[in-house]
Amino acid sequence: MYIHTKKPARRVVPTRTKYSEYRSDLELDFNGACGYCDDNNLRVDSVCFHIDHFAPKSLFPLLQNEYTNLVYSCRFCNQCKSSHWIGNDATIPHDGQKGFIDPCSNEYDQNLERDSYGRIRGKTELGRYIVRRLNLNLIRHELLWNARRARSLRDVIPTLTEKYEAAGLPNNAIYTSLLKRYMELTKQIESYELCAING
Ligand SMILES: [Zn+2]
Repeated sequence: MYIHTKKPARRVVPTRTKYSEYRSDLELDFNGACGYCDDNNLRVDSVCFHIDHFAPKSLFPLLQNEYTNLVYSCRFCNQCKSSHWIGNDATIPHDGQKGFIDPCSNEYDQNLERDSYGRIRGKTELGRYIVRRLNLNLIRHELLWNARRARSLRDVIPTLTEKYEAAGLPNNAIYTSLLKRYMELTKQIESYELCAING
């Protein structure tokens, strides 16, 4: 499977004077999720979501405000990536074995994948380097992906209960009430979680 639920894609956006002014553009283009691990910003302190400089700004200050060099990133990936870079050429992000890949590129998916449990794995030596360097095998990335999957399954419940109710079979009343109760409870837990995370 692909890492991203929806592949990030940078649009052509108006030029801004500081990279921090691109935050809302990046949030939109990266679908509110980290470019590297796809953790959603609603679940992981959106105010602390970082703007990563793909080619590090400490090494390549001229690219500091270049939109095509920016990645919307969770703090876990951004901190791990830090100012690591192979060589001293901003146009050479990797040597085929070590280095990084822009998550908006198809090359990212050719080198990294997500298994059926939600774990991020390298498909190639370069992909495995990226997993190690960015700590993409953290349990949080796996759990947050599974939580997203559980929420999308839950969203099917109203259609399911409608079908059960329309069928009108005696046992269906038990199933529908259980499903509705499950949906109510998980929504309550979710709204508590979101309040706890985002204040
Ligand atoms: Zn991340």
